[in-house]
Amino acid sequence: PVVLGIESTCDETAAAVVRGRTLLSNVVASSMDEHARYGGVIPEIASRAHAEAFVPVVSKALSDANMELDDVDAIAVSAGPGLAGCLAVGVSGAKALAWASGKPIYGINHVIGHIAVTQLQFGPFPKDTLALIVSGGHTSLLHVADVARHVDVVGTTLDDAAGECFDKVARLLGFPYPGGPHIDRHARLGNPDAINVPQGLTKGKSGKEHPYDFSFSGVKTAVARWVEAERAAGRPVPVDDVCASLASSVAGVLADKAMHACEQYGSKTLIVGGGFTANSQLRSELIMSGRRHDVEVRIPELRLCTDNGAMVAMLGVNLVEAGVRPSSLDFAIDSAMPMDVISV
Ligand code: ATP
Ligand code: MG
Ligand code: FE
Repeated sequence: PVVLGIESTCDETAAAVVRGRTLLSNVVASSMDEHARYGGVIPEIASRAHAEAFVPVVSKALSDANMELDDVDAIAVSAGPGLAGCLAVGVSGAKALAWASGKPIYGINHVIGHIAVTQLQFGPFPKDTLALIVSGGHTSLLHVADVARHVDVVGTTLDDAAGECFDKVARLLGFPYPGGPHIDRHARLGNPDAINVPQGLTKGKSGKEHPYDFSFSGVKTAVARWVEAERAAGRPVPVDDVCASLASSVAGVLADKAMHACEQYGSKTLIVGGGFTANSQLRSELIMSGRRHDVEVRIPELRLCTDNGAMVAMLGVNLVEAGVRPSSLDFAIDSAMPMDVISV
């Protein structure tokens, strides 16, 4: 099947056309630069940018694929999670296209799209696999029985997402938003053992083990305290070392728990997705621990890690192939869509 995918959950307006496992076009417009001076995404500005970019981005995705709307079998659009005003623009636009063309529409879960997109590079999922999703808003381990029909949450962050933790430390160090890529760059120059950064959650508050849950708010606080103490003592902050130590702690705990979960669930593959998986320390840590544990780690190329339309179109193809019923034209957006909902 051929599916047009549309994405507008945050600050990227994106559209792509996928046929089977082949990416025919992939267009992304970002309003990131407009938010940089505010230190975070401003929903009003992002929504307005989606309204301006929607038609040009979708038209370009179709023309790059040498297609007209009539040539696609279905339209897929991110229905959540994300910023409500942003979701409303993409979903309304997609519904208008579906209504005018009579094509079926699927309102899909953006987070599951981050996992689905790996099929463009690595082919179909093995049955029953584990997936690690690490992004600006999410850090979770999922068990994927069938990407079109059934996923379960195995573990999740109890507070901040990994990307959020990096962005907050980055702000403290004076980097512009989004700070994740700046930490990545500096971390490559520093000593990962210079500063003792705690390794997220190992035990729950009650003392009970949470083997697959994460916690990054304490990591952020520990780094912040250390930096503030150095500043108070009048010492220069070794930025590269701080970044390297933070990155190594976060990458280490993510890879350890993912591999542990693969062992427990007998999964020989780990599907990896989400904007934070652009992080070079996490990529190399996952590849190395995959080798040690004999797990095939499927990390997408960089342009498929960050938000895009291909991830939405790919999940749309999975839904069409599985014969899942399309969404009704009056489906609602869900800014807090739970992770085990695949389509609405
Ligand atoms: P979600 O997918 O949970 O809705 P999102 O779509 O806002 O969240 P993504 O676009 O998937 O998030 O990822 C953005 C996050 O990834 C930001 O926190 C950003 O700092 C982080 N990020 C991007 N590149 C890197 C990198 N190289 N190193 C570290 N973090 C990075
Ligand atoms: Mg973004
Ligand atoms: Fe995302």
